[in-house]
Amino acid sequence: MKTLSTLDPRAPLVLDTRELGRRPGSQREVSRTAPAPADLGIEVLSVVEGSPVELDLRLEAVMEGVLVTGTAHADLVGECVRCLEPLHDEIDVDLQDLFVYADKHDQRAPDDDDQDVRVLEDDLLDLEPLLRDAVVLALPFQPLCRDDCPGLCPDCGTRLADDPDHHHEDPIDPRWAGLTALAEPEKP
Ligand SMILES: [Zn+2]
Ligand SMILES: [Zn+2]
Repeated sequence: MKTLSTLDPRAPLVLDTRELGRRPGSQREVSRTAPAPADLGIEVLSVVEGSPVELDLRLEAVMEGVLVTGTAHADLVGECVRCLEPLHDEIDVDLQDLFVYADKHDQRAPDDDDQDVRVLEDDLLDLEPLLRDAVVLALPFQPLCRDDCPGLCPDCGTRLADDPDHHHEDPIDPRWAGLTALAEPEKP
């Protein structure tokens, strides 16, 4: 997964830290709106690709690298896992991570846990993996259209929130049985 591609300084989720001058304590506020990258979220709930992600960040130079703190805000679309109704929501996530200078990173002992270390490339910082991790962590795994969504009728697949009192006198027509199985929300 971890390829050392060269970052594009003009990419909306790439930040240039050069003007911090590697002076610990120097900092810069960054507010920008970036189009959401593809697949930002989980299967049932995600940020639409290209829709605006509002970022309010502070970049602060520390000894080892650049500390990024701030927030991201975006609109979500998805579907209720119980009744399959489309749903719209918003997400606010906190972002915080240290991006280590590449040369400091190289000095680290090889037995350090390198897996989670984010590294600056030519003083450029790629916000996308950080944003992605924060968004995925903050999403509910089982989004619901409302907390008490009653789901679908197990017999006919009707959305019970629309028709809470309906019931079936007669056994269900076997021709519908297959459709009903399709309409069952997936079990986690
Ligand atoms: Zn629902
Ligand atoms: Zn029914």
